Amino acid sequence: MVSYETLGVPRVINASGMMTHLGGAVLSPPVAAAMSRASAHHVDMDLLKERAGEQIARWAGAEAAWITTGAAAGVALMTAACVAGSNPRRIAQLPHADWQPRAILVQAGHLIHFGAPIPQMIRLGGGEPRPVGWVNLSPAEVLDAAFDETVAAVLFVQSHHCVQKGMLPLPEVVRIARRHGVPVLVDAAAEPELGAPLRAGADLVAYSGGKAFGGPTSGFVCGNASLVAACRAQERGIGRAMKVGKETIMGLMAALEDYVARARGEQTEAMQRRVDAMQAGLRELPYTRLTVERDEAGRPIPRLALHLDEQQLGFSAAALVQRLADGNPPVMVRTHRVNLGIIALDPRPLADEDVPVLVRAVQDAYAGLRRA
Ligand SMILES: *Cc1c(COP(=O)(O)O)cnc(C)c1O
Repeated sequence: MVSYETLGVPRVINASGMMTHLGGAVLSPPVAAAMSRASAHHVDMDLLKERAGEQIARWAGAEAAWITTGAAAGVALMTAACVAGSNPRRIAQLPHADWQPRAILVQAGHLIHFGAPIPQMIRLGGGEPRPVGWVNLSPAEVLDAAFDETVAAVLFVQSHHCVQKGMLPLPEVVRIARRHGVPVLVDAAAEPELGAPLRAGADLVAYSGGKAFGGPTSGFVCGNASLVAACRAQERGIGRAMKVGKETIMGLMAALEDYVARARGEQTEAMQRRVDAMQAGLRELPYTRLTVERDEAGRPIPRLALHLDEQQLGFSAAALVQRLADGNPPVMVRTHRVNLGIIALDPRPLADEDVPVLVRAVQDAYAGLRRA
């Protein structure tokens, strides 16, 4: 039976990263099984692509999503969506767009070669790459001045390949582009934070499925529903050269499902770690009982509650809350049950390094109030 061995292609021990030239990700057994299961039957591909896109959109917190062969295809399709929209005549004519707007602004430090040139992926979608600023400096006013009626979109590339200093951060690019009513596209190929650029205001984001998410060679775009629909419309044009099969779709879905579950697990772990650290730090507080409580609404959030014996302490929980808020730095706590002598500490908004500062502030507030 044919194998890597019979082809004379030796196995590689890869300690370098998720590299396309080494085959992207090694698939976990559930991902491989999902691909194998998907290969066994026929399905309505339009329906599968639609439903899979809807599920990815829910995971990413996006209005819509569309599966692609990779992030490079994502850049081409996002560009095509902004240049040709859903217009069938224009879609058929790509990549030779002879209309405006078709310029895609890119900060000069983002014009990378990721294995192929970013500007070429833009051209593949009918766009005309237009560099902004310089390789080491991208001033806001230069980006602002680059907008005119020929500009179809701005592409922001989030990658370790990019020049990391002197470039405008995504929220700033979004702010400027918004003023000109132009969409912001993000190439987040290898980024692990699903949907983060959308929360920063981007309109469309392209990811690789086979990098951070551990899926098969694949990718997806997500974001604004009408722009995603325009990406999908390219199936009748350049998108056909980027066709994904049912096995790839189900492999990507299995990888993302696992990724989302793991990300949730890590959050839970981080919350518990902070609660444990607060509890250890505040164990010695006088006349105060510590309990770890579940969220009132049933969400999986542990919180540390301080039950004050106000009589013995000689001050109220409300006074403690006030003293913490007036401190330097100000410390804000949950006060839902302050009238019962209880305050609670929420681990979600805290950074790990906030915990010792918070512990110290509570200890100081107790000491100050008891002296008063
Ligand atoms: C890897 C990469 C791409 C290409 O992604 P594929 O999923 O391989 O098509 C595009 N842009 C950046 C920044 C990348 O790192």
